[in-house]
Amino acid sequence: MPVAAAITVMTSCQTTPVIDGDYDSYPAYKGDDLEMTVSENATNFTLWSPTADSVLVRIYNEGIGGDAVETRYMERRNEREPWRASFEEALYGKFYTFSIFHNGQWLAETPGAYTRATGVNGRRAAIIDFATTNPEGWENDVRPALDKFTDIIIYEMHHRDFSVHASAGNQYPGKFLALTQEGTRSPQGEMTGIDHLKELGITHVHILPSYDYGSVDESRPDSAQYNWGYDPVNYNVPEGSYSTNAFDPATRVREMKAMIQALHNNGIRVILDVVYNHTYINDGSNFSLTTPGYYYRHKEDGSYADASACGNEVASEREMVRDYIVNSVKYWAEEYHLDGFRFDLMGMIDIETMKAVRAELDKIDPTIFVYGEGWAAAAPVIPNEECAMKANAHMMPGVAVFSDDLRDGVKGHFSQATGRGFATGAEGCEESVKFGVVGAIEHPQVNCELVNYSKAPYTNHPTQVINYVSCHDDMCLTDKLRASMPGADEKTLQRYARLAQTIVFTSQGVPFMFTGEEIFRDKKGVHNSFCSPDEINAIDWSLKSSNREQFDYYRNLIQLRKSHPAFRMATAEEVREHLQFIENTPEQVVAYTLNDNAGGDEWNQIVVAFNGANEAAEIEIPEGTWMVIANDGSIDLAGSVQIEGTKATIAPSAALILAR
Ligand code: CA
Repeated sequence: MPVAAAITVMTSCQTTPVIDGDYDSYPAYKGDDLEMTVSENATNFTLWSPTADSVLVRIYNEGIGGDAVETRYMERRNEREPWRASFEEALYGKFYTFSIFHNGQWLAETPGAYTRATGVNGRRAAIIDFATTNPEGWENDVRPALDKFTDIIIYEMHHRDFSVHASAGNQYPGKFLALTQEGTRSPQGEMTGIDHLKELGITHVHILPSYDYGSVDESRPDSAQYNWGYDPVNYNVPEGSYSTNAFDPATRVREMKAMIQALHNNGIRVILDVVYNHTYINDGSNFSLTTPGYYYRHKEDGSYADASACGNEVASEREMVRDYIVNSVKYWAEEYHLDGFRFDLMGMIDIETMKAVRAELDKIDPTIFVYGEGWAAAAPVIPNEECAMKANAHMMPGVAVFSDDLRDGVKGHFSQATGRGFATGAEGCEESVKFGVVGAIEHPQVNCELVNYSKAPYTNHPTQVINYVSCHDDMCLTDKLRASMPGADEKTLQRYARLAQTIVFTSQGVPFMFTGEEIFRDKKGVHNSFCSPDEINAIDWSLKSSNREQFDYYRNLIQLRKSHPAFRMATAEEVREHLQFIENTPEQVVAYTLNDNAGGDEWNQIVVAFNGANEAAEIEIPEGTWMVIANDGSIDLAGSVQIEGTKATIAPSAALILAR
């Protein structure tokens, strides 16, 4: 589109010149009015684009298609100021885009990087009145109570996995609103949806990326499309395909809020999976189209660095990028009342940025939880010691990391399908399990030299570690067990799963589970199901009837954890004081005691023992009379059976929990 060349306004008061590509020379802008503000009688546009030679803002009546109803040059006082344009009316209901003239060409139109509402597929930004997006009663919405992070039980889910199958009986399959519908049942009459979550007893739902991503065409809601959504386009806008009308900018906002409100009303907190480490595309991203180059890290030859293995690497350490990430998280916490953030490939983000995120959230509510993957897909171009890697967790108080040490120690290597772990009879995994049991803190009885991955503790406190055996990535637990234990019948596989999850749910730290594991869902053996169809990813809720005993085991396990603070100690000092491993146990056995009413528990002493071998094992226990809480793949919270003596037998591939 030919538009006459720049009207760059230069002044003589500049100090440091802005040099294209020399990102340290770019003047940071600290105003809170990027990129559009609207009031009763004015709409103001402000674009941060120091190296643009000219900038246009276009106003549209539609979110897609049609010509601009107005096109205006933006102006700036000098090259250290942002570009501005003002309209003396509230442009509610209109859409807009920016385009910049840079290096001799007009770049494609962009809704900008900061927009909070868009039309379909996020192509144009929308001007809406956010006060009208609040569901009824939103002003009274409060976060369910949370005392400490180790009280959290995370349930990771994708909207479609959870509600799209006909057996979910949901009126809004695959949508935000699916989680607002109470009273849904499977054909066999089992609870599904939000009722199921309450029945299970989890405290937090972790929803896979639900900001606007690019891989699903929102204009075709009835066609079969699936994606996890790790391909961010508009970071501050809900994904349109999860709304009932992606064309209307307010609908997705209102429906996402309604989902969060419904979960809150049912006592469940909500965590958003955030992917600030990379964008869907490179040159064509909203970052690149507003301030080319600045938002990304580059290799020495000028090409995009790519520690995400998705094509690029966001430069979180640059001032405006750090501000962007911090403000984006803050916005989600405030506008949408979100209760936690899971940072994808957090190891690519610099430590200072994660600390700034934590500090800003503390101002809003210190019980908002922050955690992430403490690794990257490849080495980032900034020094490792500056990255929010797992090994650096101790430098980021209040930020937690996933423990792949426990994960793979229990179930076997994540990508080697046939690899076994402690729960499936592998030898030599005891220390990795012990490392997980104590919450990745320093403990005098854990020898880190023998841990599978980490050779040193990385958390200050167990509140900083996520214990899990599977998530959306790689094979889910059912598939992993089938692949690594060929020939085992379903009942035996479920026994392994119970042992694995008992380790997770009794360990110090924050337990995390993948949706549907409680009913032994599978993904038909597909590892990377990010764009697999519903036939692979959707949960068939009739499994809840056929695997009812498995569900009951999970529910009891969660109840056990919630009823007994001994499993939820918040500080390393408490764990070191109250948790003692039993020495001289047989191979493939890990056993410990929780002593002296650990964590304020009503039980004075608890024995927890795991036997990974396929034959029974005997351990020594403190002398006395004990209630049997878990044994041979079943849980009895009342402890109605008692044993006496100084020895106890652990059934093959099972956990034994005793209390007194
Ligand atoms: Ca989208």
